[in-house]
Amino acid sequence: MQQKYKRLILCPQKDKSVLRKHPWIFSGALQNPNTNIEEGELVEVYNSKKEYLCVGFWQNASIAVKVLSFQKEEINYNFILNRVKQAVEYRRSLGFFNNPSTNIFRLINAEGDFMPSLIADYYNGLVVLQFHSLGMYNLRNEIVNAIKEVLQEDCKAIFSKSSSTLPKQISSESDRFLLGEINEEWFAKENNLKFRIDYNQGQKTGFFIDQRVNRELVQTLSKNRNVMNAFSYTGGFSLAAIQGGAKKVLSLDISKRAVELCEQNVAMNFEKGTNHQALAVDVLEYLDNVPKGEFDLIILDPPAFAKHNRNLNQALKGYRQINQKAMEKIASGGFLFTFSCSQAVSREDFGTMLFSCAAIANRNIRIVQRLPHAMDHPQSIFHPEGEYLKGFLLQVE
Ligand code: SAH
Repeated sequence: MQQKYKRLILCPQKDKSVLRKHPWIFSGALQNPNTNIEEGELVEVYNSKKEYLCVGFWQNASIAVKVLSFQKEEINYNFILNRVKQAVEYRRSLGFFNNPSTNIFRLINAEGDFMPSLIADYYNGLVVLQFHSLGMYNLRNEIVNAIKEVLQEDCKAIFSKSSSTLPKQISSESDRFLLGEINEEWFAKENNLKFRIDYNQGQKTGFFIDQRVNRELVQTLSKNRNVMNAFSYTGGFSLAAIQGGAKKVLSLDISKRAVELCEQNVAMNFEKGTNHQALAVDVLEYLDNVPKGEFDLIILDPPAFAKHNRNLNQALKGYRQINQKAMEKIASGGFLFTFSCSQAVSREDFGTMLFSCAAIANRNIRIVQRLPHAMDHPQSIFHPEGEYLKGFLLQVE
């Protein structure tokens, strides 16, 4: 192959993690941090003996290169098509397509599907793309065409929701349809429950798909319980709890729009008179004032408190406040579902924080389960950072 991409050379000994197929190269590992490389440009990386390692795209950041392939190959339509095919076939083989009860799932999970910085979520034929780097964004035409070619009739429209996730130099990028169009009120189903997908203004791509299996578990444990769904967004866990026969369900979210959508979602799925209430409040204040013993199933699924390693301590403090309050206030025998979706907080950090909350709350607490991502969110074994969602199901005596 003719030399096509600029070359970067790693410092001696700095090729170990690339040889272990870790998909990120940090700027400190480079011999020639090349200032002529443009954000998003494709580059080839070599070790200090000038042996080829990988091809990827450049970022002006501490993660300087995100790797697309460890083979010597050109990044073109065929390359993207093969990656998209692999991602779709994996999900087809698991029965995600043509499933009468669920048509919401993740189609492409970034590094977990060997396409760093790209998320593609599937909502009943609508694919919502979220680009997190310019390098991936530059490949958007190939990505859109490949998704259309592979999904055919299963893809009705493709929307890009990346204005808040791309680097600032192109933040003028507007959220828009890249293929087809669908109406504003788009509905999709998870576990037989209908949800309105706020793909245009909502958080992430419109819905938190990664919690599907944990919602199933909430459903099985909710019968006759008083459920508090804290940080409820559009009510994913609340609807699962109602479906599971909860005595009452309280949804709490600081965003009025999220609370409205949550109420709409409840109304769309259940008869009037459901014992559900949604409040636009600050969870921490609410937990401060709620009487002890009122709820015997509590879900804490806050936003990512730490976006970077440097915020780790602050984030742990945030998690500690809400978890400790919940442990103090939950009824005897109650179940606490508690999550962190901060990439910077490891499962170990999160577990240690819960341990210290339990000690201070002075209650007997057992770990019932460590809660996972769903199967449509695979992670590369060589990329532990891909495990961003950490959850524990605890029982409080
Ligand atoms: N559990 C949800 C996803 C939660 S996302 C689901 O399954 O869909 C986090 C939510 O927390 C967001 O909707 C955000 O509006 C809300 N939030 C952030 N800070 C808050 C606070 N202090 N009190 C209440 N809600 C808050």
